Amino acid sequence: GRSLKIGMLPADGIGREVLPAARAAILALGSSIPKPEFIDLAAGFEHFTRTGTALPDETVSVLQQECDCAMFGAVSSPSRKVTGYSSPIVALRKKMDLYANIRPVTSVSLHQLSDCNSTAPISMPQVAADPTAKPDVDLVVIRENTECLYVKQENQVNTEHGKEARATRLITERASRRIGEMAFKTALARPRKHVTIIHKSNVLSITDGLFRETVRAVPSLPGVNGKYDEVAIAEQLVDSAVYRLFREPNIYDVMVAPNLYGDILSDAAAALVGSLGLVPSINAGDSFVMGEPVHGSAPDIAGQDIANPLAAIRSAALMLRHLGYGDGANRIEKAVDAVIREGKVLTPDLGGKSKTSEVTNEVIKRI
Ligand code: NAD
Ligand code: MN
Repeated sequence: GRSLKIGMLPADGIGREVLPAARAAILALGSSIPKPEFIDLAAGFEHFTRTGTALPDETVSVLQQECDCAMFGAVSSPSRKVTGYSSPIVALRKKMDLYANIRPVTSVSLHQLSDCNSTAPISMPQVAADPTAKPDVDLVVIRENTECLYVKQENQVNTEHGKEARATRLITERASRRIGEMAFKTALARPRKHVTIIHKSNVLSITDGLFRETVRAVPSLPGVNGKYDEVAIAEQLVDSAVYRLFREPNIYDVMVAPNLYGDILSDAAAALVGSLGLVPSINAGDSFVMGEPVHGSAPDIAGQDIANPLAAIRSAALMLRHLGYGDGANRIEKAVDAVIREGKVLTPDLGGKSKTSEVTNEVIKRI
């Protein structure tokens, strides 16, 4: 029968250690999904240093012409400027028009929260949260993936007072509208049905103002016909959103943000659930989806077989669900949750002593 062609781009550092775990989890599903066919593809900084290109044209054309979906590991992008180098993940999101980066952040003990059907709009607690209590987190960051400061139009000039650098920040109505639609669609499918628009339009009234207004207007777009009437809308300035995220994360359900704020918020939210090594994402467009753990290439732990593979495994589950294989996705996610809850076989970032491969095997057994 039909097969599922999955482009695999491990790229750099621990990306190469966690992507095999995602592959093993997909394979463990057996015949409940179309037979997976993995296509290994080159990308990354290491590839750049060897060949002079970080994202070969062939990788893009194979993804576009042959693959149903893809998994990306992580890339090492140096903080200093390297002539000719540009991050392949940022380029891929643009080239494949993967305009939404969807990042669910959930504490496992709380997983049942999504099943209980509290449809009441979120009420703001009257009393400040107890800072010592372990917060419950069940939210999704929906990050715009193609513009904002990530258009990477930077320049520097010399002035009489020294160097002066500028960057262009692009916000378009089109991109804001489609990320807004993604946020409302996502919220509608969740029990709490709540969207918080993240912005800084008190300072950036034109750019963030456009983002905020455009997302706010999604429920009244022609053709929407009251579909989002049940979805409550709130908004929050990005700095206070980070503050409240740490004090009372349970006020958030779906957070929708321009590219850079979304990047920062999702790393912050990852801290609340214990580790970046737990947080998955998908990069989604209208016709393609690529799973990708939220973390980077983690050079501080690369090569030691101690990277947490669970974010990558969960990213595979998100990718499968997006393609319509919800049962397979559920099986993978339940297995991951069980391993975390049991707490016996975990990598050091979660206080454990186990290797990447041991954690992966533990998940596979439960799938
Ligand atoms: P990072 O996410 O790589 O690491 C941050 C911290 O979290 C490190 O201490 C790391 O050891 C830990 N960590 C991350 N993933 C982990 C995992 N799976 N298991 C256990 N611990 C984990 O971020 P960084 O250190 O700021 O960046 C390192 C490199 O990664 C940089 O070159 C950066 O450009 C790149 N990066 C790439 C992506 C991507 O590929 N999408 C995202 C972020 C950073
Ligand atoms: Mn990030």
